[in-house]
Amino acid sequence: MQATLHHPAAPAVVPVSIPLGELLPWAIFGGMLMLLAIYFVGVEEGAAAIFNTMYVHEFVHDGRHLLGFPCH
Ligand SMILES: [Zn+2]
Repeated sequence: MQATLHHPAAPAVVPVSIPLGELLPWAIFGGMLMLLAIYFVGVEEGAAAIFNTMYVHEFVHDGRHLLGFPCH
């Protein structure tokens, strides 16, 4: 007696195309968030500071050194 194994066919995966017009606003939004993150990690201190305290600088200080931003 031979055991038979049932191999159901995998459902076809159809990629969904996203029109560029729908993708572009999200790409711009994500790009702006990344630029904001780069600003806070790399530039936020001294003359270009939004906040007058050093809290942001101290909070991201290790990240600055890790990413190679000039610090001190
Ligand atoms: Zn430093």
